Amino acid sequence: MAIREGRWDCPTCGMVGVLGRQMNCPGCATPRPQGVRFYLPDDAAEVTDAAHLARAAAGADWICEHCGASTPATQDRCSGCGAERGGSALQGTHEYGMDDVPRSGQDRGAPPQALMTQPGRRRRWKTPAFLVALVAGVMWCNGSREVEATVAAADWERAVEVQDYRTVREEDWSVPQGGREQRSWRAIRDYRQVLDHYENRTRQVSERVQSGTRTYTCGTRDLGNGHFEDRTCTEPQYTTNYRTESYQEPIYRREPIYDTKHAYEIERWLPNDTVWARGDAARDPSWPAVTLDDKEREGARMEKYVLHFRDKDGKTYDVELPMDRYRRYRPGQAVELRVPRGSGKVEIVEPEQR
Ligand SMILES: [Zn+2]
Ligand SMILES: [Zn+2]
Repeated sequence: MAIREGRWDCPTCGMVGVLGRQMNCPGCATPRPQGVRFYLPDDAAEVTDAAHLARAAAGADWICEHCGASTPATQDRCSGCGAERGGSALQGTHEYGMDDVPRSGQDRGAPPQALMTQPGRRRRWKTPAFLVALVAGVMWCNGSREVEATVAAADWERAVEVQDYRTVREEDWSVPQGGREQRSWRAIRDYRQVLDHYENRTRQVSERVQSGTRTYTCGTRDLGNGHFEDRTCTEPQYTTNYRTESYQEPIYRREPIYDTKHAYEIERWLPNDTVWARGDAARDPSWPAVTLDDKEREGARMEKYVLHFRDKDGKTYDVELPMDRYRRYRPGQAVELRVPRGSGKVEIVEPEQR
């Protein structure tokens, strides 16, 4: 693992770029202080000299507890005052990732990842032109105009369905109450999927397997003696393997489900006739007279009321209404109509809506 020589800046005289191996500032001769910050310039070359490497690999320097001088880990006596190592402290070591290696004396490492909030920029919504056109178009289609018109005519119709009680023939899977069975037979009522057999098939399958590991430089270590050593990390490497797998596929068949079907006769009330009454403005709406025999009854009722209007240009409009509103209008009466531009119904503008 590559070892490189770092640098330090003298806090006493301000000299910058002092070589890592130097224990005293060449500018002012002050011993390299404890806690000095070592840095590793981008272009720092790898140390290759054997003695230099051994010195760098020996461990952190110790700081003399008596005079403050730095001494390599390989020496037991202080290089400044000759005192024994005793309880002297070690120069600190640090681990750095690739992104936070200090590159100069001013480089205090990576700045804290501040959550910088951008000055509030007002978000302005721009409405696309085509959307404006679309909305305007929809509004225009939904729009309407008002037309002055008079009631030209009115007509109504009412109807009553007449049902009779009849014998009919029906078929079903059971005979309902009141039915008289004529015959029955076996018939297919439904189908179900039944497992028939399995077939041997093959398919391609892929699987991700670890093929080995990759070692890479993931940072550097400040050795506490003016030198840095590359940190290495490993990560698994994967490869995708393909193979042919055999499997059994279930094969189904459609099997009919039989049941008994019945034909029967039964009496039902069924529509047989419709009796109508029709009229115009001259005649009040009324229900048609219905005469029933003993096998007949009344069924559904239907009613419809329509006013016919004409405007000053002779254009006509039909408006269908419920009876209570229909009866409020008489021929010749002037009204205001709301006529839609697109599709939709013509409506009468009631006086209270104006
Ligand atoms: Zn100095
Ligand atoms: Zn000393």
